[in-house]
Amino acid sequence: MSKLIASAAIRGAKNLVARAEEALDKAIAEKGKDLVFEFPDTAFYLPMIYAMTGFPVKTLGDMKVALGFAKELLHDEPEDHIWKPYLGEALDSGMATLFAEEIILAVRYINGLEPYKCPETGLVYNGFITDTIQRSLGIQLVDGTMPGFAAIIGAAPTEDIAVTICKELQEKNILTFLSGQSNGDSVTRQLQRKGVQLGWDTRLVPLGPDTEHTLYALDWAIRASLIFGNKKAGDFAAHLKYQKDRVFAFALALGPLDDIKWSTGAGAINMGFPAVCDTDVPVIHPTGVCLYEEVDKEFDHSKIVQKAIEVRGLKIIVEKPPIPVSYGPAFEGERIRKEDTFIEFGGQRTPSFEWVRTRELEDIEDNKIVIVGENWQDKFEKGGQLPLGIVIDIAGRKMQKDFEAVIERKIHHNINEAQGVWHMGQRDINWIRISNAAKKDGFTLEHLGIVQATMTHNRFRSIVDKVQVTLYVDEKDVLAVQEEARAAYKDRDKRIGSLTDEAVDIFYSCLLCQSFAPSHVCVMTPERLGLCGAYNWLDGKAAFEIDPTGGNQPVPKGELLDAKYGRYTGVDDYLKQASGGAVETLNLYTIMENPMTSCGCFECIVAILPEANGVMIINRGFPTMTPIGMKFSTLAGTVGGGVQSPGFMGIGVNFITSNKFLFGDGGIKRVVWMPKGLKERVKEGFVKRAEEEGVPDLFDKIADESICEDSEKLVEFLTQVNHPALSMDPMI
Ligand code: SF4
Ligand code: ZN
Repeated sequence: MSKLIASAAIRGAKNLVARAEEALDKAIAEKGKDLVFEFPDTAFYLPMIYAMTGFPVKTLGDMKVALGFAKELLHDEPEDHIWKPYLGEALDSGMATLFAEEIILAVRYINGLEPYKCPETGLVYNGFITDTIQRSLGIQLVDGTMPGFAAIIGAAPTEDIAVTICKELQEKNILTFLSGQSNGDSVTRQLQRKGVQLGWDTRLVPLGPDTEHTLYALDWAIRASLIFGNKKAGDFAAHLKYQKDRVFAFALALGPLDDIKWSTGAGAINMGFPAVCDTDVPVIHPTGVCLYEEVDKEFDHSKIVQKAIEVRGLKIIVEKPPIPVSYGPAFEGERIRKEDTFIEFGGQRTPSFEWVRTRELEDIEDNKIVIVGENWQDKFEKGGQLPLGIVIDIAGRKMQKDFEAVIERKIHHNINEAQGVWHMGQRDINWIRISNAAKKDGFTLEHLGIVQATMTHNRFRSIVDKVQVTLYVDEKDVLAVQEEARAAYKDRDKRIGSLTDEAVDIFYSCLLCQSFAPSHVCVMTPERLGLCGAYNWLDGKAAFEIDPTGGNQPVPKGELLDAKYGRYTGVDDYLKQASGGAVETLNLYTIMENPMTSCGCFECIVAILPEANGVMIINRGFPTMTPIGMKFSTLAGTVGGGVQSPGFMGIGVNFITSNKFLFGDGGIKRVVWMPKGLKERVKEGFVKRAEEEGVPDLFDKIADESICEDSEKLVEFLTQVNHPALSMDPMI
């Protein structure tokens, strides 16, 4: 580590520690040292300080203690006549910097200054990244949809360069955080001036205008090892190793570097995140002395993203259909307003549907796009609204009728990933918009078909040999074929509805989350989907056909050991091996004994409420208090990391209305509390299940936040409505 950099990092750290102290002392003088603080929606206090030291900062007074840790890490600047690597000094300064920045930002929150709102443009920056966002994005990070994330600090030399760099990151599906300034400008401002959509939907997230705001990105990174990695707070070596091995992050430092940028950079390097600069900095290569360290430079902005990807060792495969607009998951969340729409299909405005159908190999022609409709070109060119039927015919030696639904579900992503094209809904309630901008770039009706053909091939390579797409635009054709499609949807639903755990010999595993939670295995059965809600048994089956060595493996059931609790010899054998010995046995249908492990990206948590002799279910993102005395974020912090926690379990929303939901514990009748929003979401299926269980009025006996937020009132309410759980066998 060059003396120069060490000096800059040490100066930066000292400066920040002094600023943190000043701000903190002022806050304590004004509000007292007992003032309680937490960042919005996190169970991890000040996450960096908590992960590294194990010290939970809860009050201003605690911050003072934590600042002491930072001070201990400060060194004197290197003297000129001494030569040594100064590695430890720089890295210590980096960590001191992160602690000080965390305290500075916390105090800013207390003073109502965060998230930062730009007085000129009105833009509200994201500020602290919540646990909820982290958990909901977990799945994209593990399944490779989002191969990594970047922090851009500073400003590009021009607005156009800023746009080009960010677009390249979007096309590579990298989540990008923006912070800091240089030369009085910032990438955030540059993108804003060019009218680029910012936010989680487009994967360009402005954190704040200063270098210190980069800490929010590092705070999000460090929570991955707490949430998914099950690393203990205070075990800093384990956290740093996890970050280096599993969190694929890097920084692009644009514009000149000052002391604060160097010291923040040293903090990031501690975590294994390299930085690529566009200025003439001393290059540092990994030395093997520390965990990892690298600073590199690239003056050519058209190569800087690629350089960073190489330095961090990211593997990125981008599959793009031949269309005249940008393509990738980063464009999926983009909205198209009515006034920006050139043409739209469906959405209750015109008849429309989308349907995947299995055909024989000899019946279709690969990659052929057929458009059926009189003068369809003229109708399209006119814009406005048009009926549209999309039929995707698939043939393949390994194609099965069961895969139709899996492939059909991807139509949404296939279309949405094109920039300037938008899709919502499915089946015969779909809605598609093509923007004026996309039309201007040359996007046509035929491209809608091309996108489907290319992406269906890409995504389902080994089950799909041929894809032919037919688009109907005349109302009479759309209505006629829609009838056939509806009959097919119905058949399909009937078949899937009748699939039970007993009716199959093979379950499927999902191991995707092992990249974050190494001992976690989801066992997906026909009646139980993965806990993230994104994959079910059919998806697992299809994925295994597509990639036999991938993250979804068949789990032969073996012998049934316990029908009530759902225990099978084959599942146990598989789990022992797939969890590296961490999980010995699993009961599929209970939370009380050897329940499924939880990784961290669960849609809901089921938790036992002994005083109510039942369970509550709480969905990710529900912000307020629950009868167990914890908010979702706190509760979620205690469940996860790939371990079994009897009494607590992560589940997918749709599991609630499965026949096998807590089957061994008495089933749906055990549910005593759910947030209102979740209740509404599952209402239809829930009421049906309750009727089957002989308790048709169960739904109205379930409490929610409008009835109570604590267990005493809950029991009162349950008694008053005579909830069935109260008279069931004791859960414990
Ligand atoms: Fe992770 Fe389970 Fe979802 Fe697979 S199914 S991505 S293992 S939560
Ligand atoms: Zn997961």
